[in-house]
Amino acid sequence: MAEPLPDGARAAIDRNVPAATRLPADLRTRLDGLVNAFVAEKEFVGCNGLAVTDEMRATIAALACLLVLGRRGHYDELHSILVYPTAFWVEDEVEDEAGVVEQRRRVLSGEAWEASRIILSWEDVLEAARFPGEGYNVALHEFAHYLDAEGLGLGGSQRPLAGWADEIAGEFESLLDTVDRGGFTFLDPYAAEDEAEFFAVASEDFIDRPVGLRDAHPRLYALLAEFYGIDPASWQLPHSAQ
Ligand SMILES: [Zn+2]
Repeated sequence: MAEPLPDGARAAIDRNVPAATRLPADLRTRLDGLVNAFVAEKEFVGCNGLAVTDEMRATIAALACLLVLGRRGHYDELHSILVYPTAFWVEDEVEDEAGVVEQRRRVLSGEAWEASRIILSWEDVLEAARFPGEGYNVALHEFAHYLDAEGLGLGGSQRPLAGWADEIAGEFESLLDTVDRGGFTFLDPYAAEDEAEFFAVASEDFIDRPVGLRDAHPRLYALLAEFYGIDPASWQLPHSAQ
């Protein structure tokens, strides 16, 4: 934690993680320490022939650690990050309402479906650097799913405060109403899929375009600030004078 980041890692984060460049100095120091620990503790596994580089490790670690800057516990049960070069296929079985089980094949850019590992497509992780401020960030999305599940019992280290779940469910319902009416939504409409996707999509916006999220959904922003223990809308804007 106390070691400074290697220069290459810092440059990779500055290039690929726009939100990190907006952090106040004390939080940036904290982020760098968390990244060091994350890279040292987690196993990065290249898939489909991908050779994992220091740039990939630093970038993914920084995105993961932005979400725990204000939280206790640092992905304690997460062991490995599987990194694919591009979107990847997964096969699983789904049961329909009649109880018929079918094999399903889907293409994904990320997945967080168990406590010990997260799967990401490097090409899609980098999309966020190419289009900052658009609320799309697959790594933030998957790590948010992880922390959400952890809070509900996967890891059990941190439970939301009383009333929090009801309030966030209320925010989800109001999004559903807007989508049903065909209205404009600040959040990507994929957030209407279910409560878990709502939380993950909102978390992407919370870090990637916090001022917009706060203006569009002040209560949701406050609930996320409570969950994450940070206030990203207060971080310096990228091009404003110091
Ligand atoms: Zn999701």
